[in-house]
Amino acid sequence: MGEKEYDNELKAYIEKLLGPLSYDITEEEFGIIPMTNQDFPTYRNGIYFIGTAGGQTKASTGYTFRFIQKQAGEIVNELISDRFFSQNIKTKKRFIFYDSTLLHILSNNLLEGKIIFSKLFKKNRADIIFKFLDNETSISEEIKLLNSLPKMVFLKAGFIELKKMIFNRKKS
Ligand SMILES: Cc1cc2nc3c(=O)[nH]c(=O)nc-3n(C[C@H](O)[C@H](O)[C@H](O)COP(=O)(O)OP(=O)(O)OC[C@H]3O[C@@H](n4cnc5c(N)ncnc54)[C@H](O)[C@@H]3O)c2cc1C
Repeated sequence: MGEKEYDNELKAYIEKLLGPLSYDITEEEFGIIPMTNQDFPTYRNGIYFIGTAGGQTKASTGYTFRFIQKQAGEIVNELISDRFFSQNIKTKKRFIFYDSTLLHILSNNLLEGKIIFSKLFKKNRADIIFKFLDNETSISEEIKLLNSLPKMVFLKAGFIELKKMIFNRKKS
């Protein structure tokens, strides 16, 4: 969406859902989050790539702050223990797969993001959802979350993305 559309949506949200109230806008932010499952290096030739540049933006949500903190912690631990840091900080493969599945659904307009997230939050505990968005859930928790979503759409998209991961590693 363009900047003006975001402004209109925010204004409508403030006035209809939070209002009526009087308010001042004291600060504004605008940016575009790279939501992609491309690989990003974490380390190359003596340089650490941190944050978004180091692949710490979650592909399906754009969330980065918490991943940056975890990445910074891992880099500090490597430096303190005097180990030469040459390995990418690995995200577990199944979370990359979940992200690719959701990206597939969103980019092919198979379901709207607001429908998916509304269902998730209506049917599950918020702390488990946030744990999932932080890539920290167990497989049994992930199955419960998947059960609260339109299964056929997710299974079909998951199958396509799994094939890509296995055979041609094509990225969205
Ligand atoms: C509107 C918005 C809201 C967001 N909200 C959240 C949120 O609530 N939670 C969350 O987890 N994430 C959020 N994000 C995601 C956000 O991308 C990250 O949280 C965070 O800003 C990424 O930090 P970073 O340091 O990696 O990159 P950035 O904050 O983008 O910092 C990179 C800096 O490097 C500078 N730079 C770029 N190229 C060069 C160069 N060649 N030489 C020198 N400097 C350069 C840039 O100017 C910039 O200042 C949001 C993003 C946007 C756009």
